[in-house]
Amino acid sequence: MKRTVLILFAAVAGLLAPVARADYQPKAEQVVDNVYAIVGPLGQRSADNDGLNANFGFIVTPGGVILIDSGASRLGAEKIAAAIGKVTDQPVRWVINTGSQDHRWLGNDYFAGNGAEIIALARTAATQSEYAAQHMDAMKRFLGERMQGTKPLPAPKSLAGDSVVLELGGETLMLVYTDAHFPGDAWVWLPRRSVIFSGDLVFVDRMLGVLPWSSVKNGQKAFRALAELKPAHIVPGHGRVCDLAQAQRESGDYYDFLAEKVGAAAREMEPMDATLDRYADLPEFRQLENYDGLHRANMNRAFTEFESQ
Ligand SMILES: [Zn+2]
Repeated sequence: MKRTVLILFAAVAGLLAPVARADYQPKAEQVVDNVYAIVGPLGQRSADNDGLNANFGFIVTPGGVILIDSGASRLGAEKIAAAIGKVTDQPVRWVINTGSQDHRWLGNDYFAGNGAEIIALARTAATQSEYAAQHMDAMKRFLGERMQGTKPLPAPKSLAGDSVVLELGGETLMLVYTDAHFPGDAWVWLPRRSVIFSGDLVFVDRMLGVLPWSSVKNGQKAFRALAELKPAHIVPGHGRVCDLAQAQRESGDYYDFLAEKVGAAAREMEPMDATLDRYADLPEFRQLENYDGLHRANMNRAFTEFESQ
């Protein structure tokens, strides 16, 4: 009986959903005071998760909501808005982009259409323009028709300077370049809350990804600067909200490994394959999700970066 009901329910739900099902609904969790994180799944972009396989966050102020990163599509942005709506009736007045990778900003147009001002550092916005077509194409392959209605909108308010202090709704935010995962990536630091939204500088629970345009050298430098801030709470780019010790173990130590072991071998012109073989199995990082798929490619890209310096 129970089984019949379930099957009937599934059949009805199927009839009501002409486009691909996308049951994943992000949820907000409080980090501290008026600061919230939305922690996405660790796996790949999919029609089910609408490309929200990353972390987002928001700050509720008396003047409206400040959103950190806007999701990978119009429908993804709507899901983020719904998660915020469960916490507050305040409208999203400001969106800050920490990066130019799809899930950081392809929802900008949706929030701008609902009255939000979209803000990023100048190089972040420039990189968004540069990668817009490429990221739209890639997202269409992952999400199919669920990308309909998505228009790439690079942050219209782009800020000059390497670090910028913003006062929004009575909240103080510091936007600083990290330039690690993508050129022009940045973090958002809330000094009064001791919370940092690291963008794609910090990954925990899963292995960080070094892409052809990433910089391990910049990642190592930025991570050290982040550690000096001694944040009480880190909302990483991917993975659960964590403390500095976990971020150090799962990202900081890995940047150090890539720069100091793989990078050193590259500078000394040791053969790449032998270097990658030597470090193929690292027990201290093996428990991280995606380790098997990413670790060797990460070392390969780090080697190439340091070889050319
Ligand atoms: Zn990411």
